[in-house]
Amino acid sequence: MDTRLLNLLVCPVCKGPLAHHRPPHNERHELVCNADRLAFPVRDGIPVMLENEARSLDGDTGRESATTSAAADRQAH
Ligand SMILES: [Zn+2]
Repeated sequence: MDTRLLNLLVCPVCKGPLAHHRPPHNERHELVCNADRLAFPVRDGIPVMLENEARSLDGDTGRESATTSAAADRQAH
């Protein structure tokens, strides 16, 4: 696939630059907006630049907030 095409793509939300994540360096092939913490999937080489198709990096991994929310969860139960 022509990666120059991907370099022209910008985030549909903030119009900012996107980081191109692809295996084997990254688990998934996707275009990441670090400003919005959104990852747009690349399916069969076609970037899906739709906000409602994007994966939320914060919600999915939750590495930074997992500790506090898990602790709060345990307190509640
Ligand atoms: Zn963005």
